[in-house]
Amino acid sequence: MAYSYEAPVSQTLFDRASLVTPGGVNSPVRAFRAVGGTPRFMVSGTGPYLTDADGREYVDLVCSWGPMILGHSHPEVTAAVQDAVARGTSFGTPGEGEVALAEEIVARIEPVEQVRLVSSGTEATMSAIRLARGFTGRAKVVKFAGCYHGHVDALLAAAGSGVATFGLPDTPGVTGAQAGDTIVLPYNDLDAVRAAFATQPGEIACVITEASPGNMGVVPPLDGFNAGLKEICAANGALYISDEVMTGFRTSKAGWYGIDGVRPDLMTFGKVMGGGFPAAAFGGRADVMAHLAPAGPVYQAGTLSGNPVATAAGLAQLRLLDDAAYAKVDAVSAELRSLVSDAFTKEGVAHTVSAASNMFSVFFTDQPVRDYEGAKKQEAFRFTAFFHSMLEQGVYLPPSAFESWFVSTAHDAQALERVAAALPAAARAASEATA
Ligand code: PLP
Repeated sequence: MAYSYEAPVSQTLFDRASLVTPGGVNSPVRAFRAVGGTPRFMVSGTGPYLTDADGREYVDLVCSWGPMILGHSHPEVTAAVQDAVARGTSFGTPGEGEVALAEEIVARIEPVEQVRLVSSGTEATMSAIRLARGFTGRAKVVKFAGCYHGHVDALLAAAGSGVATFGLPDTPGVTGAQAGDTIVLPYNDLDAVRAAFATQPGEIACVITEASPGNMGVVPPLDGFNAGLKEICAANGALYISDEVMTGFRTSKAGWYGIDGVRPDLMTFGKVMGGGFPAAAFGGRADVMAHLAPAGPVYQAGTLSGNPVATAAGLAQLRLLDDAAYAKVDAVSAELRSLVSDAFTKEGVAHTVSAASNMFSVFFTDQPVRDYEGAKKQEAFRFTAFFHSMLEQGVYLPPSAFESWFVSTAHDAQALERVAAALPAAARAASEATA
């Protein structure tokens, strides 16, 4: 595909980056490989806008993949960070900020009786799985195809659908042994979960699921799916782990738990709770968390865990996220979804806008999407044309058809007007695209 617009400074930076960093990026999806073209190197962000190294401004519909729910450079978050930095950036001792952040999480999310702070969502899920194994004395882990839980070795297995498919490593570097205790099942299929427990009694430590998946595009759980998982786990002595790294503090004040009310044994968090800094967490039942070092025998640690700057940013952001803030984000999302859907309908493009609270994505199919197999059946080539047209017109979308779009309290009428103005040409480009 030829691109009619250029980004010479980003291109120069990308060329430099590619010499010293594999693929030129520090996290693969940033490289635009799914859509082609030159990744934009951003230099600043304000409210709903990002500015790239070539001086072009974009309405940001990625929000750093979720964390920036108040928009970029929110003055109160920035002030809290500046204040924390001025007092020192890392002490390697306990500090009040981490206590306050833990208290805020425990106060918001009722099933979280105790919480441990870490630095990334990957660390949170990795630690939660280790704790579940240590607590139950069992080895096997059930995950669902299309759910992403960070780059944890044991969770980088997403073998094809089918009941009780044993995990095959998805990437070189993950050994058969590391993935061999992972059972990958189709999402939204409780019968598959029951069958896995029936064929491996007493062996499954936990089921981990995205509370509402956003990593195969947005595919919410069917009614009763999460409750069913919880029930099956409880009946079989396994732990139910709800991964709320993406949904936590975004989909409601209490994340997806605040929406479906299904009580997990353990939960994981990241993104929004870090206010744009590396802070994440896992927590849950006090009797399970008591197995964690130094209270218990399951080891887990981190030099920068509970970092004072990251916790100050996270705490400032969470304290600003009241009911009015969520109502605003939900309203922005609803308006955007209808603008997008109307534009595709006008151009006769088959599509489904799939939403979970204020997270949403577009599938280029008119069939409902319930799992990863369904998500893969969409006409993803249309997204490529759509993405580049939007980018050219100053709207920054996730560079993949299998990612959630994110908005913030800062997306005002002016930002939405810019998106609305870009949509007709982009929808036309999607309709004219060929595989
Ligand atoms: N879990 C979920 C549901 C995620 O969406 C992600 C990242 O996107 C992770 C875990 C991993 O988090 P991190 O990228 O902070 O390691």
